[in-house]
Amino acid sequence: MSIAKILESMDYGPAPESGKDADRWLTDHGRAFGNFINGKWSKPSAARSFETRNPATGSVLATITQSDARDVNRAVKSAKVAQTQWAARSGHERAKVLYALARLMQKHARLFAVLETLDNGKPIRESRDIDIPLVARHFYHHAGWAQLQSTEFPDHAPVGVVGQIVPWNFPLLMLAWKIAPAIAAGNAVVLKPAELTSLTALRFAVLCIEAGVPAGVINIITGDGRVGELIVDHADVNKIAFTGSTEVGRIIRQRTAGSGKKLSLELGGKSPFIVFEDADIDGAIEGLVDAIWLNQGEVCCAGSRLLVQEGIEKTFIAKLKARMATLRVGDPMDKCIDIGAIVDKSQVKQIAERVAAGIAEGATLFQAKTKLPSKGCFYPPTLLSDVHPSMSVVQDEIFGPVLVSMTFRTPDEAVELANNTRYGLAASIWSENINLALDIAPAVKAGVVWVNCTNQFDAAVGFGGYRESGVGREGGGEGMLEYLVPAFEKSTVTPPKTKPKMSAPAAKVNTSGIDRTSKLYIGGKQVRPDGGYSLSVCGPDGSAIGLVGGGNRKDIRNAVEAATKAGGWAKATAHLRAQILYYTAENLSARSSEFIDRLRQMTGVSAKQAEREVESSISRLFSYGAWADKFEGTVHAPPLRGVALAMKEPVGIIGMGCPEETPLLGFVSMMAPAIAMGNRTVLIPSNAHPLAATDFYQVLDTSDVPAGVVNIVTGDKTSLMQTLAEHEMVDGVWSFGSAIDGEIIERGSARSIKRTWVRDETDQNLYDPKQGEGREFLRQATEVKNIWIPYGE
Ligand code: NDP
Repeated sequence: MSIAKILESMDYGPAPESGKDADRWLTDHGRAFGNFINGKWSKPSAARSFETRNPATGSVLATITQSDARDVNRAVKSAKVAQTQWAARSGHERAKVLYALARLMQKHARLFAVLETLDNGKPIRESRDIDIPLVARHFYHHAGWAQLQSTEFPDHAPVGVVGQIVPWNFPLLMLAWKIAPAIAAGNAVVLKPAELTSLTALRFAVLCIEAGVPAGVINIITGDGRVGELIVDHADVNKIAFTGSTEVGRIIRQRTAGSGKKLSLELGGKSPFIVFEDADIDGAIEGLVDAIWLNQGEVCCAGSRLLVQEGIEKTFIAKLKARMATLRVGDPMDKCIDIGAIVDKSQVKQIAERVAAGIAEGATLFQAKTKLPSKGCFYPPTLLSDVHPSMSVVQDEIFGPVLVSMTFRTPDEAVELANNTRYGLAASIWSENINLALDIAPAVKAGVVWVNCTNQFDAAVGFGGYRESGVGREGGGEGMLEYLVPAFEKSTVTPPKTKPKMSAPAAKVNTSGIDRTSKLYIGGKQVRPDGGYSLSVCGPDGSAIGLVGGGNRKDIRNAVEAATKAGGWAKATAHLRAQILYYTAENLSARSSEFIDRLRQMTGVSAKQAEREVESSISRLFSYGAWADKFEGTVHAPPLRGVALAMKEPVGIIGMGCPEETPLLGFVSMMAPAIAMGNRTVLIPSNAHPLAATDFYQVLDTSDVPAGVVNIVTGDKTSLMQTLAEHEMVDGVWSFGSAIDGEIIERGSARSIKRTWVRDETDQNLYDPKQGEGREFLRQATEVKNIWIPYGE
């Protein structure tokens, strides 16, 4: 093009990045790749391979191995052997290896950026300026955690062998998010990249050799979803870390239920982008471009639901449409391109189908007259308006450059619309009124909230969602804990058993008097069970000592409803919660002799043992009175002018299956941390010894615990736990009981993806404060929400 012409149109000229080095690397490798197992490449076999293509051109880049069970077995075996030695190294030794990976990533940044763009279709501008720098940052940050592990995570051990499955949208970044914390913590990994985008993971294997990662600590095996399944099912894998669709996340939750595998899931989203009337409109438009058109909208936290305040809708949408007309879609290797290629034909088809479904439901389509390349996988930036909240395009993740737009009138309505989704990954709030923005941020159910910014990520700031957006966090200290377990859980030494001896019935326990059936405790009241059934409770000699209500599904529903109404507890001050916990302890103490008698009567323990259990329960309530105002958030200083506030929020409503033994201490050990952090609870007491929990109502009634914060439903624990796990309004479920209960709640939780915490009661000693109380309990009782707040005008 002549200079005169350029001056005339003032259009961008082509500015292509060179693909030469990436091409050379592929050619040197014969454009065929085996797996990277135990520090070595396996030989590629033509019989077991598939092609990986450049989505912008359709050309084949290389052939990749379709792994099978033998490959997975070999990779897991090598990881298992390597892990023990890797974990035995000092934190400093591991830190040096992570540091080397970070440095090498920087040295080869351009090659990785080009390879990522060729394989995935994302604009080179993004892979060069966002993906790769964040990858390096992740390894630096986690080199630091390795160095500090012994002091920052005392009494924790690595999980062991970790299976990691990543998607195609940020192939190398997701690899870094998974591998860096895992190996920093002393684990060994088997990672499977997405079948569409394996190349940067394979190139990363080369860095592992150069950085001196010991053989077997990082294994990369390729193939489709079937390989993922083999990893998920492998008996020697101790944890699965998955990023991808909610659908597959749900399958993985089901397949791992009862296996004892730790699990973290980073799933989909339909994140709101909320613009208030007083927002800097031009700033918000640029933010929105980034929110929905970064990476062609193939982003789990994409701001794909625009909620704009009614008064500015017209102006805002007009400006948005004008801006959409300037977006350039085309060759991802061109440095001046805004939107690159969609990862694959199948994804283009899926986007088009979802958009068509939206139009059929009544949505109005706007697509700027953007010129698309004549070949390759491209889709124009798209806006769907005239939508209503129940439409599929508003509820379902489209995972492409498609925005839906709605309006709201008041801040309350904005929050209601924002939360009208089964997801809860991210949200963006735009307002020049910081008071308003910071009022809305805690009310939006999302793991990450960006105020006047969007798509900010940093290795120090945890990322992850609520509800169907997944469980667990990646990044920061909370991300490290996903790859560690409390040391006693790994201990080969059997913890001291506290099983009370079933000796003779307690002396002088009065079982006579007026017959009484202990009822359920729901919404601060004693209520009869819905079915009208009672269950008898026996003492250690088998004689009946009382009756409790036989709760059913309906009772659980009522209890959850009562807990829902008690939502104000989450907003109560920590000081108030502390006072109530101390008061509960005081009232338990005043009745200690009754509880001692009750424990002896139910379990036949000695007076001394019963006294110890009651005293330990009082002390535990004191501990959480103490913790209520001390387990606080963090102010992160990510590399931006601003802060990220890591707030600890209650999980919500937690269902709890209490242990069979130590029935009072078990009940208190589960209830107290949950309510200390502002959760509401539905507790199913010990099946065999429920009377200590039902006696506890009277303590609760006299201790100012608001109605609905603690609900107690007696009955068949396993079936009641299953109902809790499957209940849509329950946010988390804990089981400190049998392996069967654990499996049932993990399986049941898959439908609505809720947090679960399963401990085998035969493997824990609740009398030991290290096992029975403290930070791990508080961590399970909280979600970390990161609120990003930039400074300046
Ligand atoms: P998937 O969830 O299917 O894939 C993610 C990863 O899991 C890939 O490595 C995939 O392998 C693997 N996988 C697939 N099936 C199983 C299984 N049964 N067990 C274990 N691992 C499995 O996402 P897709 O790539 O198929 O994309 C489908 C949709 O998911 C997208 O349109 C988008 O809506 C959403 N998605 C969401 C992401 C997010 O971050 N929230 C990321 C990617 C997709 P392989 O790709 O080789 O089949």
